[in-house]
Amino acid sequence: MQVFETLEDMGHEEVVFFNSPCSGLKCIVAIHSTVLGPALGGLRMWPYATEGEALKDVLRLSRGMTYKAAVSGLNLGGGKAVLIGDPEKDKSEALFRALGRFIGSLGNRYITAEDVGTTVHDMDYIFQETDRVVGVHKVHGGSGDPSPFTAYGTLQGIKACLERRYGHTNVGELSYAVQGVGSVGHHLVKLLRKEGAKVFVTDIHGERVQQTVDELGAEAVPMSQIYDTDAKVFAPCALGGIINEDTVPRLRCEIVAGAANNQLESEEWGTALEKRGILYAPDYAINAGGLMNVAIELQGYDKERAYLAVSSIFNNIRNIFNLADRDGIPSWQAADRLAEERIHAIGKIKMPYTKRFKDRLSGRSPHIAGAD
Ligand code: NAD
Repeated sequence: MQVFETLEDMGHEEVVFFNSPCSGLKCIVAIHSTVLGPALGGLRMWPYATEGEALKDVLRLSRGMTYKAAVSGLNLGGGKAVLIGDPEKDKSEALFRALGRFIGSLGNRYITAEDVGTTVHDMDYIFQETDRVVGVHKVHGGSGDPSPFTAYGTLQGIKACLERRYGHTNVGELSYAVQGVGSVGHHLVKLLRKEGAKVFVTDIHGERVQQTVDELGAEAVPMSQIYDTDAKVFAPCALGGIINEDTVPRLRCEIVAGAANNQLESEEWGTALEKRGILYAPDYAINAGGLMNVAIELQGYDKERAYLAVSSIFNNIRNIFNLADRDGIPSWQAADRLAEERIHAIGKIKMPYTKRFKDRLSGRSPHIAGAD
């Protein structure tokens, strides 16, 4: 990889390599953008086959966080950290505390959180060295499991889709197919059933499906048939890449709105959905509830405020559809554009402050109305 060329192309501000031989730490932190605020993004622990693979992953994921925070109206930038190692074998207090000290050395530029391969216990070790970590245990002012908030936010996004498509937000009047009833999927089914909706579910784990059927009254379908149900809304809550060449022609739904990350195998499949007349709620905007929830930790955690913040996903998804109309583009592209427009606008108003500061230093100090 031509590192600087790639950073230039992807727009990253900074990439830091942390190495601590005595604890075995090898970690890369990528700060994509701090235009809107400190870069917040999880710490992923994975046994990457090569360092190049780890670097590629952290660059891709950190850029995604910039867009997610921007489209969600948060005053946060995008960043991510990858820790090279096996989460089953290579964890220790020393490892995470060494990482905590390194993260602390970045000042307010990067804030970490849980991600694939890391847990609240790992965040607690980091917290012993720096307060630039969220998703810590409740005893430290943390917010606990983010999944109920992600599910609640997904429901708000679904309502925005219903409003768009049918002119109402009566969730119970429609039927839903939920792929994956893990942490988020299970909570989402609960919320949908509470509204009286008919819900089809599937999962690799049969016992999870059975639990949703027994506890919540959902209807089980085989994994291979989840795309073929006649549910009006398909809610992917498992893996990424499931909107692709094979599935788009099969879908019988009118809306795709779920919590899974990276649902489109590639952007062209987002456009293909629109061409088939299927409304798509861009994944990183509808599943931002977990991020919004941990962001509240930075101001002193309050569960009620967190739910209020997550409710804004309804408006965020509505704004994306409005912008798609304004510019005649598919919704996946409108989400990117909304994020970019916000970053650009805030970046622009930041400029005079920087200039004023420079002017002050050079003794010219022009007064900018309202800037103080
Ligand atoms: P999870 O691991 O708890 O649940 C995923 C479920 O999907 C599991 O039960 C798994 O068995 C099932 N699954 C996997 N492959 C499947 C397949 N091919 N068909 C059917 N089921 C399958 O994960 P989660 O925390 O519920 O997250 C679900 C999705 O939402 C992921 O894509 C995740 O990245 C995304 N997401 C989660 C959060 C959060 O707060 N947890 C926030 C944002 C995005």
